[in-house]
Amino acid sequence: MKLLTRRALVVLALAIIVISGLLVFTVRYLGEASSWVMHASNRHLYTNAQPQVTGTIYDRNREMLFETVDGTPVYNKDQTVRRAVMHAVGDPGGNVVTGARVAFGERLSGWSLLQGAYRFNQRLSHFRSDLTLTLDARLCAVAYNALAGRKGTVGVINYETGEILCMVSTPSFDPQYPPDIENDPERYEGVYINRFLSAAYTPGSVFKLVTAAAAIDTLENIDTEVYQCNGETVIDGELVTCPSAHGEVDLKEALAKSCNVAFARITLAVGADTLQQYAEKAGFNSSLEVNHIKTRIGRVEVKNARGGDLAWAGIGQYSDTANPLSFLAYVGAIANDGVRVSPRIIKDNLLSRLIRSIGGKDRILTVETAARLESMMRNNVLETYGEGNYSGLQLCAKSGTAQVGEGKEPHAWFAGYMDREDCPLAFVVVVENGGGGSRVAGPVARKVLQSAVSRYAGE
Ligand SMILES: [Zn+2]
Repeated sequence: MKLLTRRALVVLALAIIVISGLLVFTVRYLGEASSWVMHASNRHLYTNAQPQVTGTIYDRNREMLFETVDGTPVYNKDQTVRRAVMHAVGDPGGNVVTGARVAFGERLSGWSLLQGAYRFNQRLSHFRSDLTLTLDARLCAVAYNALAGRKGTVGVINYETGEILCMVSTPSFDPQYPPDIENDPERYEGVYINRFLSAAYTPGSVFKLVTAAAAIDTLENIDTEVYQCNGETVIDGELVTCPSAHGEVDLKEALAKSCNVAFARITLAVGADTLQQYAEKAGFNSSLEVNHIKTRIGRVEVKNARGGDLAWAGIGQYSDTANPLSFLAYVGAIANDGVRVSPRIIKDNLLSRLIRSIGGKDRILTVETAARLESMMRNNVLETYGEGNYSGLQLCAKSGTAQVGEGKEPHAWFAGYMDREDCPLAFVVVVENGGGGSRVAGPVARKVLQSAVSRYAGE
């Protein structure tokens, strides 16, 4: 017995030595290996700074989005799909830095920390450098068509898992046959920017969902308070207007009618510090990571704002900006009982599923506040947007018509989710200079969600 114990201890000691040695090695390797291998002068992987061979990129349904055949890049056979997922996949010049070809270039080139340049290993080379995205290419094509040539973005995520099913940014182009972009600067303005991940827009009234959360949590009399809207009010000399006089409204009615006058009063009652705090909880002033791709930071800075400035900030104007994906993740948290799930674009394998089950979830609203916002967002559809326009979707939503300056049409926003267990999807639509929020962005959302329901409900 004693002998056994001693041997066990020796083995244990050896194991500890081996493991700590491995740890030291791994830390150094993790820190330095990638930059060496991915250097464009490494001729094992590159010719004239272009990757020689890369893995295949698939969508969630194993539809090929990109592959190299005898060293030649080949994209999806459908031209609409190619345009719709161009920002997700990447362009031939590598200008879309958040595209998979650049952002996940290491993996696609067939090199990994653990296995080295494994594409030279015949047994592994067939599959290990491939990449499966969470996107549904067909759903992206529906969204692309629904934007109908207008600039903007459409995103859809599963609010329980964080998977991004739809990510479309326009303008776009066909990467198989790239156009002469410099010849038409207006049409292709910002074409290399994935607006879903890397743009920040004035949010307008969708931001009222943040102000409302602060009001529900911090204003004692919010359940009974009634606000009088005569169509306009003056705060410290600054005019706050509504499209028409809304009369007497409570919080729920103020949200459904998107009453600026009521929300100006609510914002002043909440106060600058609390609004700042709730904006930051909602994801403003920080970026999200999507498989290590960082989103553009949306800003809310109201600490020193007073009076009319503060009021407008609570209405989503003033200096507020919002990143579409980051805001979508906030809306997804309302749907998911207050828990925000980290969005992701690479389909899980066993290891990443395990990691995700440990982290990547963040309670940003209480269950009660999320439920309260949900009932108000559902009421918005029933009372304002029209249940008949979204029948069967169990839609909860908020629109925004963001003013972006004299002489320019406002940005149209529509954000929300389906309160359906069999199809837990949240969405955001932004149409740049599109006009009225629900009127312009609403039909885009309808087409995409109806398509999503027909493809995934009851799965
Ligand atoms: Zn009003």
